[in-house]
Order: sequence, then structure tokens, then C-alpha cells
Amino acid sequence: MTKPFAIGIDVGGTKIAAGLVNRAGDILHRYTTRAHSEQQPEVVIRAIEEAYRCLVKESRVEVTEIEAVGLGFPGNTNGPAGIVLVSSNLPAWNHFPLRDTLIERLGVPVVLENDTNLGAVGEHRYGAGRGVRNMGYVTFSTGYGLGIIINNGLYVGHTGTAGEVGHAVIDIGGPPCTCGKNGCVMAYASGVGISRMAYEQIKAGADTLLRQMAPPDGRRIPGETVVAAAQQGDAVAREILHKAGYYGGVGLSMIVEILNPELIVVGGGLVRIGSLLWEPMLAAMREHVQPELWDSVRVVPWQVGDDLGIIGAAAKVFADAEAHLV
Ligand SMILES: [Zn+2]
Repeated sequence: MTKPFAIGIDVGGTKIAAGLVNRAGDILHRYTTRAHSEQQPEVVIRAIEEAYRCLVKESRVEVTEIEAVGLGFPGNTNGPAGIVLVSSNLPAWNHFPLRDTLIERLGVPVVLENDTNLGAVGEHRYGAGRGVRNMGYVTFSTGYGLGIIINNGLYVGHTGTAGEVGHAVIDIGGPPCTCGKNGCVMAYASGVGISRMAYEQIKAGADTLLRQMAPPDGRRIPGETVVAAAQQGDAVAREILHKAGYYGGVGLSMIVEILNPELIVVGGGLVRIGSLLWEPMLAAMREHVQPELWDSVRVVPWQVGDDLGIIGAAAKVFADAEAHLV
């Protein structure tokens, strides 16, 4: 017997967002905490516990009507094993058995998965990927990641980390990436990459508004700031966004060549930039795939949007329940 509700929890870099979700994919109640993934495991676990208990209490739903808790986590996870492999340079997270710890604390089934993979499941079930058998979901935001749906199911690979196309090296000896390597797709195609390129231009003495607009303490320059400069006619800012989009398209070309999907859905905060990013992205994809594959794939923006973290986590719970995995 399937149950009518799931709780989706998205552990992000600045907050933890949770929601009670029904099978139609509607969020009925929400709960947000200020804890985030760059804190110690115990802090994050306590926040998840608090979110779960508050949602159950507030919604007055019987615990027996909740299929499971779906939990999205950034970085490398081994979902099937329920383990966080690496997170935010905090050694305490290395190989942390987050799923089983939460099952013990909450007393309900828990499904753990990488947030981008859950995005793929969410867009496949409730968004732009409905009715599509083979697709990729690319998150283009602070980072650049891929979730893979094959034959209507999530493909996570041998150790759970499939789809790390953001860390495929495309520029040997290129700029440093957050992963410690150089020249990854993500070193250009991401919020981190945009900020890096902006600081590089400022240091090189380029004539750009970004010099005044950058945070005084050297923190990451938000994508919106670069967009604002571009909209004021700043050629350097436009070129940076063009480059980020272009390398994002190189990532898409690899996805097309390897997976031959019917559809690629692109979501994440940077999608809001619109044509300044989207057009060079599509152009680069076309430039780098074989002409026979040009028309093999549709590339569309996400439909679920900002709630994808919560809805994707719930979607995975429902999908697993239907496959009798929970
Ligand atoms: Zn990398």
C-alpha cells in the first residue's frame, strides 16, 4: 500500500528547506532552518530532526501516512549505501552514515541522495521531463552537476557518484577548481567560476564596473552582480557570462555524446540570467557535438524551479516506494 505523503528535505549551503509533499507534487507545509551543509554533522542532524518534527506537528498528518523522508545533500554521496562521501571540506562528514543515523533518530525510513540527482528525479516526475524515458538534469548554479535518468530510473553509478561532469577536465593546466584539480568544466561554468573570472579581470586591471561592485572583503562575487554589470553595458561582465555559458555548453556536449538523451533539463540559479548565458551554452553544445546528434536532443529550462530540492527529494521517496525499495 502506498502512502499519501513524503517529507522532502534539501540540505543546502545556506539553509535547510523542508516540506510535506503529496503524491501530486504539491508542498502542503514548509519548514526552513538556518542550519546548512557547511556545519558539523551533529548540527545538521539536529536541524533535520527539528524540521521533521515541526512538519509532522504542524500538518497533523499521522506518521503512518508518511512514506519516508527524502534527503538531498550537496557534494559526493553514495545514496544506495546511505553515506555522505565528502562535504564542504569538513573531515567529520567523510564517509558519514547519514541515512542510518537519521533512521535511528527519526524512527521512519529515510532516502538519501545527492541534490542534483534528486533534481533529476523531481523534473522527471513533476516537471519538464514528464513522459521522457532517458534524460539528464543539469544544475547550473554555484556548481555544475548532472543527474541521469535511464529507462525512467535514476542512474547513480558504481559508488553513487555518476554524473560529476562538472569535474570533467576540459582545459589541461587550466584554472583551479574547488575539487583540487585544474581546468574542470565547473572552473568556468558555475557561480564559483564566474566569481573567479571576475576577480581575475579586476586583478588584470580590466576596465570594468565589477571593480566597484565586488564585495570589499574578497568574498565570492554573486552571479547577479555580474549580470547587473552586464546590463549596464559592461563588456567584461558580458564576456564572463558568455564564457560561463559557453563552458556549460561544453558540458552539455559531453552529456549528449555519452548518454544520447532525449532531453536535457537545465536548472539552478544561473538559469535566471537568461539569454546571456543560455545562447552561448546552446551554441557551444552544437559546436562540440557531432552534427548527426544536433537534432537528437531537446534542451529546456527547469519547470519545478526553486522548490526542486524539496519536491525532488519527495519524488525519490515516491519512486522508490513504487519500486518497493523503501
Ligand atoms: Zn573540479
